Amino acid sequence: MGANTDAMILGAGPAGVALARLLAARGWSVAVIAARRADAWEGLSPRVIVGLQRAGCTAAVGVAGDAAPRRAGWNGRISALNHEHLVDRARFDAALWQDARAAGVRVIEATVGALRRGERGGWTALDAQGAPLARADVLVEARGRRAPATGLTDACGPRTVAVARVFRGPPVPAASAAVSFADGWAWMAAAPDGRRLVQIVVDAASVPPRNRLSAFHATQLVRVPEAVDWLADTIPAGEASARDATAVLRGGLVGADWLRVGDAAFTSDPLSGHGVHSAIGSAFAALAALTTLRDDPEALPLVRRFVEARSAELFHHAAAVGRAFYRMEERWSDRPFWAHRSAWPDDAADAPQPAPQPAPHGRRLQPVVVDDRVVEREVLVTPRLPRGVLTIEGVELAPLLRLVADHPSPTDFATSADVTSDVARRVGHPPAPVGVALLWLRQNGFLQDGVSGGGLPTG
Ligand SMILES: Cc1cc2nc3c(=O)[nH]c(=O)nc-3n(C[C@H](O)[C@H](O)[C@H](O)COP(=O)(O)OP(=O)(O)OC[C@H]3O[C@@H](n4cnc5c(N)ncnc54)[C@H](O)[C@@H]3O)c2cc1C
Repeated sequence: MGANTDAMILGAGPAGVALARLLAARGWSVAVIAARRADAWEGLSPRVIVGLQRAGCTAAVGVAGDAAPRRAGWNGRISALNHEHLVDRARFDAALWQDARAAGVRVIEATVGALRRGERGGWTALDAQGAPLARADVLVEARGRRAPATGLTDACGPRTVAVARVFRGPPVPAASAAVSFADGWAWMAAAPDGRRLVQIVVDAASVPPRNRLSAFHATQLVRVPEAVDWLADTIPAGEASARDATAVLRGGLVGADWLRVGDAAFTSDPLSGHGVHSAIGSAFAALAALTTLRDDPEALPLVRRFVEARSAELFHHAAAVGRAFYRMEERWSDRPFWAHRSAWPDDAADAPQPAPQPAPHGRRLQPVVVDDRVVEREVLVTPRLPRGVLTIEGVELAPLLRLVADHPSPTDFATSADVTSDVARRVGHPPAPVGVALLWLRQNGFLQDGVSGGGLPTG
């Protein structure tokens, strides 16, 4: 075991590695404990590449390669969708570890078996035999779906499992496709080297034990007409494997010296969520949370509100997106797979409570990130933007709106360059971004003919 580090991150997937790099760049000493993951293929949206670049994960960007075209067959209609980067997660994660090392992060290749809390604070990670692996002041749980449960599950979608198998055949252009069938949906990814993966997503109750997975996969494939073309001239390469794909929102995500990120905090149904994108986003939020707690331990309640509200909001959003996709498939709406997922989250007994609804149009105090710190600020909310908007072009909107309301000649605001310059001077920004921010206020109903129309703060 090496020296004590400032932070120890359990799990080196996208969330763990992005956060490790971000912390290291701000002077933290960081160790990640990385166990090899089971084989899996995934499709990454172009937004993931942007996130990886922001986190400096250049090796992972390189492995993601070019985006391949994606098709969908849903409700009897075939459509060419957008593009996605097809990645073999074992290779992708190996590149992430390389990115972690390049940032000076200590990567310990091991499996965490247990954790021990020091009497005077700090954490020690132990392997399955009880031997210490690493010690740190702050602990980050980033073991994805394999992270131990928190004991607080705030919401859980229908139990869902993905059963995947790889096939090998002649080289074909990279491509992917998603199609629905009577009791689930299937995703196919074709790699240019001739490998094809077909993943069948079904209700967990229908999935047999591991030794019968390949036979199960074969019987499901017969029900997917597109599989005939997908797998032309191929033979199986290895057995089928299963992954849990249930949407789960955990509670209890942050304490004074620990935090959960990525899938360890919440998971989405792969139909609705862009899990890797969300994992990288959570690393940026975690950076702000940890930096704030280190400088100001008293900020824990604010940080907790920030982390848990953010997680809940993203989870509910992904759940609603998933439900919309399931409802779009109308041919089998009476089959249990489609019926349950079209009805969740609204009418299941354990459905997530809707996130607190803000005033339809107004201002609200809430925790936000400014300069890598969690702080409380007034944001503007509209029915279209219920999460609240803090700035436009770097100009904070709530103070700008107050200034407009108090300005001696408010009616001139929307049209007069002089008045814009005057406001710009008062808020300490150049006129151009202030002009854009004023335009935003007007377009979103906060300024009518230049006069402030914003609602009252709702706290
Ligand atoms: C079936 C399925 C399909 C999916 N498809 C897509 C997709 O196409 N696109 C997409 O964007 N997202 C997809 N996702 C979601 C995506 O996999 C996750 O959201 C994302 O990987 C979460 O990143 P993470 O870093 O939080 O966790 P993970 O990527 O799961 O990383 C956790 C890491 O912790 C390690 N670990 C686990 N236990 C231990 C231990 N005891 N000790 C040390 N290390 C440990 C694991 O080996 C792993 O490396 C899919 C998910 C599922 C279930």
